[in-house]
Formats: sequence, C-alpha cells, structure tokens
Amino acid sequence: MTTNDLQRMANRLRLDVVETVHAAGDGHPGPCMSIADIMSVLFFEELKLDPANPRWPERDRFVLSKGHACPILYAALARRGYFSLDELPKLRSLGSFLQGHPDYNKIPGIDTVSGSLGNGIAIGLGMALGCRMQHIDNHVFVIVGDGEQQEGIIWEAAMAAAKHQAGNLIVFGDCNNNQSGGKVTELSSLYPVADKWNAFHWHVQTIDGHDIDAIRNAIAEAKKVTDRPSYIECRTIKGKNIPYMENNNAWHKKVPTAEEVEIAREALRGAIWE
Ligand SMILES: [Mg+2]
Repeated sequence: MTTNDLQRMANRLRLDVVETVHAAGDGHPGPCMSIADIMSVLFFEELKLDPANPRWPERDRFVLSKGHACPILYAALARRGYFSLDELPKLRSLGSFLQGHPDYNKIPGIDTVSGSLGNGIAIGLGMALGCRMQHIDNHVFVIVGDGEQQEGIIWEAAMAAAKHQAGNLIVFGDCNNNQSGGKVTELSSLYPVADKWNAFHWHVQTIDGHDIDAIRNAIAEAKKVTDRPSYIECRTIKGKNIPYMENNNAWHKKVPTAEEVEIAREALRGAIWE
C-alpha cells in the first residue's frame, strides 16, 4: 500500500472504532485514535501473519499492552480477514467473542490477553525469547501507553530485555500525554521518557506517531539493531482526527451519539479508505 493508502486505512480504522463503540454502547474510543497510524502500518504492511492460520508459528507477534484500546485492534483484525466486520458492533455484548479486553482463547489473531496495564512488554519479551530459542526469524511488536509506563513491571521488563539482548523486540510508546485520570505530566510524569529507555540500554528513536513514513522508517531502523531491544517513542494526540475527541480526556471511555458518529464521518470524508 502507498503512504496515502495507509493514512486512509488508519482513518478507516478510526471510523470503525467510532461506529463500533456507538453500536456497542460501551468502550474506549479516545485511546484508539492515537495509535491508528501505527496499527495501519503494522497490520496492513509490516506484520508477517496469515489470517487463515492465526497460530502460524513463524508469524510476527503483536501485543496491545494498552488492551482497553482493543476496538481498533478488532477493526484491524476484521479488515485483515480474521473474522467478519459484522462482528464489530457486538463488542462487549453477552455471547460475543469480542470481549472488552483482548482474549487469546476466544479471538482469532490475538496473541495474548492484555489490559491489566503494564504487562505487555514482559509478555512480549517472553515471546521474543521463546521465538529466538526456537530459531524463528520474526519480531515481536508491542504498543504501550505513556501513562501505563508508570507501572513498575515495565522497568523490570526493560532491564531483562536489555540483559537478554532481545533484538527481535520492538516497542512503540504511544506518548499522547494523557491517561485515564488526566495529563501524564501532571499526575506522575515520566518525561523525558526516551532518556529512561536510553538509560536501560535500549535502541531509542523519537518520531511523530501520525507520520506513516516516519513509522515505517523507524521500524526499518529498529530491525537493523539485532543486539538490543528497540523503543520507538511516538509523539501522538489522543483522539486524533476525530474533532471532538482530540486531546479531550472525557473520551477515554465514552460512547458517541448518532450525531457524533455523523460528525466523525464528515470529518474523515475524502480521507478514508473506501
Ligand atoms: Mg496515554
């Protein structure tokens, strides 16, 4: 896909999320929007996967550590052919396999449960080391929030990954300076967070997390480094491209009305994958 195609796919995923959370009457739309461009590059270009064989051993692994942003992961999986788009509006409904947080046992294409915040890098490291021991030539990609990096287990995993020289582990930090309770910099600031990953001996890059080519280039650079794990600090905007959600923490967990769904459709018109 071209850069423009991937941008438009990111917006398609954003609108999928707005429509899904509206139909479901529950869910976290805001935290999905900041990672839409990363998700588009990963699921529509980068990840080595086979929707017909979700547990293919050679596949790349993906961990959405900020598991509450799963509506966008479900949209990406549906659009890659893991299951029907008709399943999306059933999110969080009784009997639906699309749980409020990702479920490894129920959802094809999900590599791990997540949503208990902080665990994703440690889980990804376990996958990376396991794959390396089996001589599988792949990568493990993790998306972690910025507020989430206040969790202590993040830094235990950071130490262990460097010690084990996990060059096949690539972590994206979704740095939107927002978390459930407010601004990260006002609650318990991690910034400058890239300095911390440097101090833990990771390969570190800082990019605009909404720039498709910057995301592509950062992944290519990270893959060249084989003796250290990689952290890509992605500067992002919570609620990106949905006008009433941008930088508005009220949309961390909130349901768009039918009118707000229309506003989102209008805002993305002409800039969306059809
Ligand atoms: Mg955040």
